[in-house]
Amino acid sequence: MLNTQRTPARCKFLFVACILMLAGCSQQSSTAPSGATEPALSADLILENGRLYSMSWPEPSAEGVPAAGAPFVDGLWSPDAQAIAIKDGVILALGSTSEMSAFKGSATEVIDVNGASIMPGFVDTHTHIEELGATLDDVDLKGVQTEQEAVERVVRHIATNAVPAGQWIVARGWDEGQWADRFPTHALLSASVPNNPVLMDGMNGFGAWGNQLAMAAAGITADAQDPVGGEIIRDASGAPTGAVRNRGVALYREAVPPLSMERLENRLVNGLRIMQDSGFTAVHHAGVNTDLMAAYESLAAKDMLPIRVNAMISGRDKALMSQWISRGPTRFAGDKLFVQSVKGYYDGSLGARGAKLLAQYSDRPGHFGVSGEEYGFFTDEISAMLLTGFQVNIHAIGDGGNREVLHFFRDNFAINPEMKELRHRIEHAQVVHPDDFALYDELDIIAAVQPPFVAEDKVWTVDRIGMERAAGAYAWRTFRRHDVPLVFGSDLMGYDWSIFYGLHSAITRQSTDSQPPGGWFPDEKLTAEETIRGYTVNASYANFTENETGMLKEGMWADITVLDQDVFATVAQDPAHLLDGRVLMTIVAGDVVFRQ
Ligand SMILES: [Zn+2]
Repeated sequence: MLNTQRTPARCKFLFVACILMLAGCSQQSSTAPSGATEPALSADLILENGRLYSMSWPEPSAEGVPAAGAPFVDGLWSPDAQAIAIKDGVILALGSTSEMSAFKGSATEVIDVNGASIMPGFVDTHTHIEELGATLDDVDLKGVQTEQEAVERVVRHIATNAVPAGQWIVARGWDEGQWADRFPTHALLSASVPNNPVLMDGMNGFGAWGNQLAMAAAGITADAQDPVGGEIIRDASGAPTGAVRNRGVALYREAVPPLSMERLENRLVNGLRIMQDSGFTAVHHAGVNTDLMAAYESLAAKDMLPIRVNAMISGRDKALMSQWISRGPTRFAGDKLFVQSVKGYYDGSLGARGAKLLAQYSDRPGHFGVSGEEYGFFTDEISAMLLTGFQVNIHAIGDGGNREVLHFFRDNFAINPEMKELRHRIEHAQVVHPDDFALYDELDIIAAVQPPFVAEDKVWTVDRIGMERAAGAYAWRTFRRHDVPLVFGSDLMGYDWSIFYGLHSAITRQSTDSQPPGGWFPDEKLTAEETIRGYTVNASYANFTENETGMLKEGMWADITVLDQDVFATVAQDPAHLLDGRVLMTIVAGDVVFRQ
């Protein structure tokens, strides 16, 4: 049995902390001296003198106790290797620095990582990459506190970039959850920006407002009908205020003219480069429409994808779904693009009170949220995707939404039991009724969760659903106890995608100011090991690539992230220091795509 005592290790932690401060300040590259005898097998790249965690040992228990065989002794984690040798994009060997020098040939690049930690490449399993890329050409509203501040950013953008009259401006990132009870109207925006249509999109896509020109282009008039699953907010006289909720956002988005293919490809590459520089070797893109899919396919064909992409087909794009029903799940040549899943949209967000609850909202009596076909979920089309062999990943946030989605899976598995094997996911899996965790297990559903939600949503979650239901919210330990695999992501742009922020949120259930003390519903906290697995081993399972990536093992893809800190040691000492971490290097298929 394992010894999980933690006390005797304190002095060792201090020693580790000293190493951490030195790590990564001076990685050095060299090539082996010429004239030396060539080894029988010579590596393309060797990383040496690191703290390598392969993550290739067995899973921890449901309570987070490391497995026998994990490099965990006397309550202390230690690296299971120091160095790794890479050839032709795959891992040739790992071991001590001196063992790896056996693979140094005259053309081998050797990088001394100088005590930094070498981890399997991190994967963000829920992203919206085009929105990330768009930050380089749209107006960023993240962090705005007032309507006036938001409008000023748009005015400044127009002036700085000399945007011609008539050209659409998209601004995004204001917090619909925080502003749920005070959505702005068009008045100030129309007065300040009279010559360009402007869309002010919320950070989670559940609320927006526009100016007069945007309203006219989107057909948001006094006579307009509310769209299915959405609301045009109106004043006492029935006139639209300019603000919309839930699927009403689509009215504005559809009015924005489409980008050229070249600009779209550019936007995706920009987004992927930001992720690559943030230490991610792969992303799962949650909902890709016809245009984005064409851009991804074109980038894959030109070998221009900087990191790997699991592109989920948008479950709102019927034409794209029927196209892929004929093509079937596909892994593209080069193993950079995977199209094997569809993203369904089942209910709204909790912040904007769109998530479907079994009982009324605690802070809006008589209101239950919206779900299913009312929310734009295409039951027949998604069922057809499932029965064709696609993995189905459905957004469900409320306990009602989660239950209905579980029943959707159960009913389809009754028609074709083999479909249960396809590793279907529920995206967010945010509020789950205590009776329904067992159903997740029975149906083999993966819970795809975003740890940063806890750090940020905790300020209003109890208002929306009350204490009792909050106990089943973001319930990661409960999922583990029910043997439900967890995969982690950020849901960017709504939340910061920093890997250190994600790790910190999952491990502490605190915001960056270390609140609340001890963590929010601390029983649901995860260990460092479980959290890292959610971003690596489990993430590759969810992409059907667990035999190729997710851990560092001979023969697997050389997808590697190098960090300036040892996450295990930092967590043992003080998890707040995770937030000081930096990514030093990102390696995809043996290529160093980012190096600080
Ligand atoms: Zn999302």
